[in-house]
Amino acid sequence: MIAEATSAVPANELNPWISAETRFNQAAQRLNLEEGMRKMLATPTREVTVAIPIMLDDGRLEVFTGYRVQHSIARGPAKGGIRFAPDVSLDEVRALSSWMTWKCAVVNIPYGGAKGGVICDPSIMSEGELERLTRRYTSAIIEMIGPEIDIPAPDLGTNERMMAWIMDTYSMHKRQATTAVVTGKPLILGGSRGRAEATGRGCMIVCQQALARLKKQPTETEVIIQGFGNVGGMSARLMSKAGFKIAGIVEWDGAVYNSHGLDIEKLMQHRKETGSIVDFAGADNVDKDEALTMECDILLPAAKENVITSRNAARIRAKVICEGANGPTTPGADPILRENNVFIIPDILANAGGVSVSYFEWVQDRMGYFWNEELVIQRLEEIMVTSFQDVVEYAEKNNIDNRLAANMLALDRVIAAIKLRGIYA
Ligand code: NAD
Repeated sequence: MIAEATSAVPANELNPWISAETRFNQAAQRLNLEEGMRKMLATPTREVTVAIPIMLDDGRLEVFTGYRVQHSIARGPAKGGIRFAPDVSLDEVRALSSWMTWKCAVVNIPYGGAKGGVICDPSIMSEGELERLTRRYTSAIIEMIGPEIDIPAPDLGTNERMMAWIMDTYSMHKRQATTAVVTGKPLILGGSRGRAEATGRGCMIVCQQALARLKKQPTETEVIIQGFGNVGGMSARLMSKAGFKIAGIVEWDGAVYNSHGLDIEKLMQHRKETGSIVDFAGADNVDKDEALTMECDILLPAAKENVITSRNAARIRAKVICEGANGPTTPGADPILRENNVFIIPDILANAGGVSVSYFEWVQDRMGYFWNEELVIQRLEEIMVTSFQDVVEYAEKNNIDNRLAANMLALDRVIAAIKLRGIYA
């Protein structure tokens, strides 16, 4: 589907920074944002490119390129993940950093937005190489990060092991154990209960809210999920337990479908044993290009960006799209989906469960007092339900779609903070 969705799509539509700018401009225009403020928020506050030399296991010295971009610190310290992937670019990191600003604002947690990335292929690197890369990258950006400055977290290609190395590298430099410098850490090093499931749980909560508005029960709801990793897998597991019928799962190498609902735990076991979701006994293999346009109630893209484009949006038959991934829908697809009355739960709201529990982790680290899972889930639910209602009410009040509403609401909140702080000169 991604190949099909992106073929013959104008390159600009697929450029994440241009997408972010387009959405920002739409919200700014609608809010009649003055030119100076528009310029200020259209430009990331700080961007750093670093060269990261490390010794590979075979004795060669290799130099990797890394970025850290802080888009805004108006509402608090910058917050955002670190991505390790071969196709990381400064434009992508910029776009993701601005999304973090809007995401933190839309769920009303006291952070600005940031993102980091290193151009590398973690799948072909050894544990030792990844550790050296993570530590050297951390030391290269060390003045930019800190519990009150900028707090990284995992993203594509990074995990809690790497967050432990970041925490250790930072702590060794500062000569004190500083757990709150990074979130998404192992539990034993100040991680939070419920963090691993948080994004998937957040997706489930907003889907429940959307269904309540559509007056449907989870049990009468067919869901198709793209991506069976952290977000997609956890969403599938939790939603299945909550009674949703998970009819389809789409992965990069194929898709499986069962209109009566898939047994998610068995599918996970099957993938563990065979390395793939395809040929699962409890389902039919279906074309992954077709799977996203099959009839369903909820489509949950949770793999990567630019999946729903101007090329395939008209064929989407889901009633609700819950954007588990960042940027799965391009601005070119928006008007088509609007025309077809698809209820969109935009990424900056739908996948904000992760950053919300990251916020809880940071709070717990700073308190030195840790919550039980029940409390984490209860507080996550409060944030997701309130934010969903805020966005939908804003949309209804202004007669606009949910994405524009989420962006305008976020922008409103960031502007209010900037105005109260004033411009320091
Ligand atoms: P992940 O690597 O754990 O999972 C991604 C899954 O998508 C993998 O199973 C992968 O095989 C699959 N995939 C890759 N390419 C695909 C393709 N072309 N077609 C179908 N499936 C494909 O990553 P994740 O952490 O689940 O993140 C997924 C998305 O959610 C990303 O956009 C990420 O930025 C976003 N996100 C993640 C979190 C989080 O807490 N993990 C929070 C907010 C947003």
